[in-house]
Amino acid sequence: MTAPLFPTSIAGSLPKPAWLAETQKLWPSWKADGPERDAAKRDATLLWIKEQEDAGLDIIGDGEQSRQHFVHGFLERVEGIDFARKVKMGIRNNRYDAMVPVVTGPLRLTGRVHQTEAQILRAHTTRRTKFTLPGPMTIVDTLADEYYKDRVKLAFAFAELLNQEARGLQADGIDVIQFDEPAFNVYLAEAATWGIDALHRAIEGLSCTTAVHICYGYGIQANIDWKHGLGEEWRQYETVFPALAASRIDQVSLECVNSHVPAELMGLLAGKDVMVGVIDVATNQVETPDNVARTIEAALRFVPRERLLPCTNCGLAPMPRDVALGKLRALAAGARLACTEVGG
Ligand code: ZN
Repeated sequence: MTAPLFPTSIAGSLPKPAWLAETQKLWPSWKADGPERDAAKRDATLLWIKEQEDAGLDIIGDGEQSRQHFVHGFLERVEGIDFARKVKMGIRNNRYDAMVPVVTGPLRLTGRVHQTEAQILRAHTTRRTKFTLPGPMTIVDTLADEYYKDRVKLAFAFAELLNQEARGLQADGIDVIQFDEPAFNVYLAEAATWGIDALHRAIEGLSCTTAVHICYGYGIQANIDWKHGLGEEWRQYETVFPALAASRIDQVSLECVNSHVPAELMGLLAGKDVMVGVIDVATNQVETPDNVARTIEAALRFVPRERLLPCTNCGLAPMPRDVALGKLRALAAGARLACTEVGG
């Protein structure tokens, strides 16, 4: 039996239930502490595994229910970072301010970071699984550094730690490991040079599928304002895609629907699986299956059908829960519709 066309997955994050954390926030506070919080994270992870399966998705994730934020969740297990001292820093080339921890010494992992949720995921679905980690360049852009004093050195130090965790995730039975690199859309020339080199360090020795997610960010106001200033055509991908096509990364996740990214830029990813964003995370309006099928149809002009994986533009974390659920269903139903239309 051949695999079905257009296997679906989400970029990574899903909203946290109101009993786990504050809702509709990018850096939400947890509602409980200690063992109670751990139990709540586990419950939320199970809940979203079930919801993704019931919606009809093919590749299932943990919805990032156990991390407060997609970057800082990883950093909490890294020695050499002072989490007690957070400083205000402009991130993504000063697009917005964030309170970030400070690197104060040599970096070292204190243990596994995501073993618990990876094992919950593997134990509770028989479908393929995907797990997300922040990419080295994006990590470097989301903290302050008083020790390495060199962005490239710091990125490679993180890449080594990411590689340790990625090997652990692979051993846990995860099928796809994805690195989130929104910073690739900001520091274009650096992404194409040392950004991809650092990713190569992070995937060293892995035999599972590897992916990178490059987007224009969550649907928060600072990102919406930034996008308004990017002009009629967003050509950021044009710099990094040829370098990615030549890289050892297997899959690329990109923003597509409702963006100003010229569709032909997807053609620069020849030889890679392309996770095409067919769900907009910057609007609470839920797509119809037909909307989704039309986006897939348009992408098929530049991506071979066996390499097209419908996905969301970015994570769904800051959205209302019912909206996110509606979008999961639209994603799966739209992919099935497109599959029927092309006779797959
Ligand atoms: Zn994203």
